[in-house]
Amino acid sequence: MTTGLYGTYGGRYVPETLIPALDELEAGWAAARRDPSFQNELDRLGREYAGRPTPLTLSERFAPGKRIYLKREDLLHTGAHKLNNALGQAVLAQRLGKRRIVAETGAGQHGVATATVCARFGLECVVYMGAEDMRRQRPNVERMGLLGAEVRPVEFGTKTLKEATSEAIRDWITNVETTHYLIGSCVGPHPYPELVRELQSVIGRESRTQILEAEGRLPEVVVACVGGGSNAIGMFAGFLDDAEVKMVGVEARGAASLSSGRPGVLHGARSSILADEDGQILDAHSISAGLDYPGVGPEHAALRDSGRVEYVSATDDEALAAFRRLAETEGIIPALEPAHALARAADLDAGLVLICLSGRGDKDLDQALAHL
Ligand SMILES: *Cc1c(COP(=O)(O)O)cnc(C)c1O
Repeated sequence: MTTGLYGTYGGRYVPETLIPALDELEAGWAAARRDPSFQNELDRLGREYAGRPTPLTLSERFAPGKRIYLKREDLLHTGAHKLNNALGQAVLAQRLGKRRIVAETGAGQHGVATATVCARFGLECVVYMGAEDMRRQRPNVERMGLLGAEVRPVEFGTKTLKEATSEAIRDWITNVETTHYLIGSCVGPHPYPELVRELQSVIGRESRTQILEAEGRLPEVVVACVGGGSNAIGMFAGFLDDAEVKMVGVEARGAASLSSGRPGVLHGARSSILADEDGQILDAHSISAGLDYPGVGPEHAALRDSGRVEYVSATDDEALAAFRRLAETEGIIPALEPAHALARAADLDAGLVLICLSGRGDKDLDQALAHL
């Protein structure tokens, strides 16, 4: 068993009772990776169910003078990259003989992706969600219900994602024989950061092939938004070995765990987190629910420290301006999360840029229109 360390980040900061389950998952994942039938099944599901490969779209009007390519994860089934991870973990869970899935969700996007794959495979699905988040994200609660998932309200504390996560873990500990815990980003204890990265790395692999086909060269800069960091690490994975390709991760200004955080432990791993001097977690604030998280995957913290990836941030207003601009200049309404990446991409000193358009903006229309 490896330790899952990225420099001094990562690891397993969990109760002793969870170690056997993490070991089992790690061993199952290691076996699946070596098994061509696992990859074949994922490839087939990607093609026939999810709509892979997603296209690469050249945008010429968004930032005149630059060739910006958009990796269109917004065109994936359910409208965002989260499905890549949920599909992979659902297939893995079945290999491990688990027919019950638990997850937590904040804004509801990961809950919908999880409920979707559970419906596809006939798995029992329980999603923990803070009662306050359920009130704010009613349409996603209804979607999950329609997909056959049970959404369990969490009524204590701030009644949001933090408490929902604790409840999902409690459920997993109690039901670990039958249950897989489906984490939605490259966070949590080992092996989750590695597992989620590998499942999302299809974004980077496809993009690399597609841009070489279109341009005959690699992009100068690759840009992606960073919440927990899964779409970014999946995209970056395709280019980390190409020393000449610069990489930029864009956080929300009010949830900038990498740009303004400190080392600490959150949700089972050591990373860079928003916390005070005593280690108490601070609240994150962003107009985009998917970036509104006080932590980030441990591999990003290591990539920041090594200097391989540069992490910057964008404000709510900058993201909203980019949201509107992409709609007006390209006929594409992006999710507010990748609008942060778009906001920073426009001012890069580079001619050929690749951006991960992680999701579509339908879910954000009310929010964006209220501000614009
Ligand atoms: C959830 C979400 C994100 C943030 O999650 P990561 O793990 O950082 O990728 C980004 N974009 C969209 C569209 C999302 O739904």
